Amino acid sequence: MSLFLRLLFRNKLAGLGAVVLGVIVLLALLTPILPLHPPNATNTASRFLRPLSEGHLLGTDHLGRDLLSRLLWGTRLSLAVGFAAALVAGLVGAAIGVMAGYFGGRTDNVTMRGVDMLMAFPYILLALAIVAVLGPGLLNALIAVAVVNIPFFARNIRGVTVGIAHREFIDAAKLAGMGHTRILLTEVVPNIVPVVVIAMSTTIGWMILETAGLSFLGLGSQPPQADLGSMLGEARSALITAPHTSIVPGVMILLIVMSVNLLGDGIRDALDPRLRSGALARPMATTRVERAQTPAPKGEGLLSIDELETQFHVGPRVYKAVNKVSLELRPGECLGLIGESGSGKSVTALSVMGLVASPPGVITGGAVRLEGQDLIGAPYEVLRSLRGRKVAYIFQDPLATLHPLYRIGDQLTEAIRVHEPVSHAEAHRRAVRLLEDVRIPNAAARINAFPHELSGGMRQRVGIAMALANDPDIIIADEPTTALDVTVQAQILALLDDLRRSRSLAILFIMHDFGVVGQLCDRVAVMYGGRIVEAGPTAEVLAAPAHPYTKRLISCVPELGGGRRVLAAIPGLPPAVDRLPDGCAFAPRCDKAQPDCRRGEIELEGRARKVRCLYPEGAS
Ligand code: ADP
Ligand code: MG
Repeated sequence: MSLFLRLLFRNKLAGLGAVVLGVIVLLALLTPILPLHPPNATNTASRFLRPLSEGHLLGTDHLGRDLLSRLLWGTRLSLAVGFAAALVAGLVGAAIGVMAGYFGGRTDNVTMRGVDMLMAFPYILLALAIVAVLGPGLLNALIAVAVVNIPFFARNIRGVTVGIAHREFIDAAKLAGMGHTRILLTEVVPNIVPVVVIAMSTTIGWMILETAGLSFLGLGSQPPQADLGSMLGEARSALITAPHTSIVPGVMILLIVMSVNLLGDGIRDALDPRLRSGALARPMATTRVERAQTPAPKGEGLLSIDELETQFHVGPRVYKAVNKVSLELRPGECLGLIGESGSGKSVTALSVMGLVASPPGVITGGAVRLEGQDLIGAPYEVLRSLRGRKVAYIFQDPLATLHPLYRIGDQLTEAIRVHEPVSHAEAHRRAVRLLEDVRIPNAAARINAFPHELSGGMRQRVGIAMALANDPDIIIADEPTTALDVTVQAQILALLDDLRRSRSLAILFIMHDFGVVGQLCDRVAVMYGGRIVEAGPTAEVLAAPAHPYTKRLISCVPELGGGRRVLAAIPGLPPAVDRLPDGCAFAPRCDKAQPDCRRGEIELEGRARKVRCLYPEGAS
């Protein structure tokens, strides 16, 4: 609730609307106890008194009635009728919409065609017709305004409900044996309440205007009862001679409708979960860089990451997702980066090309050098020309990275043509060849498939083809096989290995366990809590892991033909990177931890074979 209010008042205009509307509503509520003239007491001796006259602050109307008193009583009435109409329209419309959307089929058809029929008439005409049938009067005007607005709510809510009715949690509720009523009340309604509130808050202003319109025409409140519309209507004849009689109710209508609409917009923005999570705050095109100093170049590699620090600044918290990570990738080499979920592998990979979302991501230190050129803080154009052409990514879930509405061929040719101005025909030819390269059978026909028409393994092959489209030097593969089953995993890995050799690609291969790294990678680096804890040639690390964490990770993986062995899960949880413990981050889970493991900085020591541990395995 306080979050809602904070979001609401961050919008200055909505705050202004809330204040103005608050004052008006307060005045309307207090009207009966304010020392006012009776609103309907006529006094023909003092007709058309100007504002600020003795005893009549806003003057009098054509029957000598006090305008201030009529204004406040009229506002009270107009507000009440407007709110009531919005409430009725909202509730009835939402009920119709929920029923139609949830039950679908014939229910939906019949009710929605009825609603369509109502919508086919201009609404003011419809309102007039309803009042004509029911007879003039404020209650009938209310009914008319509510009825003409029901279709708007019904359609809106039906649309939202249809979207919800086919979601998994509704299926789950059905499978759990819940009845329709219970599902509607506990699963559907809570999800549409914000939509109803939003729709109401943005239409209440309209309804007040419509009611005033009917009263203005003499179909709403009946004399002598004042509401804002009828006050305007009665003042019409004296528009020129005594303009204040029209201006007073007119300004009030303006204030009410404007403040209601400003507030309504504010409520809509504050309730919308997408806007709330900052969807309107576009992430920057490249990751924000706040780097104090640049480390001197050390490695000679094709890609060298030096002391990279990437953090997420969320409110007062600082998540040190990548904490002084150094890696080096030589041409044609495969480097494995291994660690549990949340250890910072993906953030490391995304930092290379400035792809970490900012806000909240910030690169606070280090350098990423591609053939000697520092990419941290490089202009967007530079990074863009390198993305895909020099360094390409393969992500875990190709269904999320491929556009669902375009054929894979179009997506491939687009990827090619971004960097090279070749003709459509040429791009198409290359796309087919790429699909053949990633061993997609019958590539010439498959190129016209949509992503959903392919299996998971095929899709990942397309993902790889996309990455290869511009013949990059480096591929960063972020858990490319995690979403696939084991046999397909093996095929994809074999494919990557082939491609790497035939195209002399350098691959940064990110995995969460040691399962397949042995076959693929020349060297591995193990990451924990945002830091590298061990690095070295794969065979050596696998044969004799030095860091207890590496050892535990390796023993998590079953080995075919490896005999009987206890598969040990690692107890405990990875550390939260916003409050890393002093000393070794793994110490709380390590059964060899000593008191001095929990103090100070522990360095990553060694050259070809590095380990960040005071008591490495096998050293003792
Ligand atoms: P993984 O090794 O599984 O790829 P990630 O690199 O995705 O891990 O995440 C590393 C750490 O960064 C995690 O602890 C996570 O909490 C943090 N993190 C990632 N994205 C965000 C974000 N947008 N806001 C805050 N923290 C984040
Ligand atoms: Mg990841």
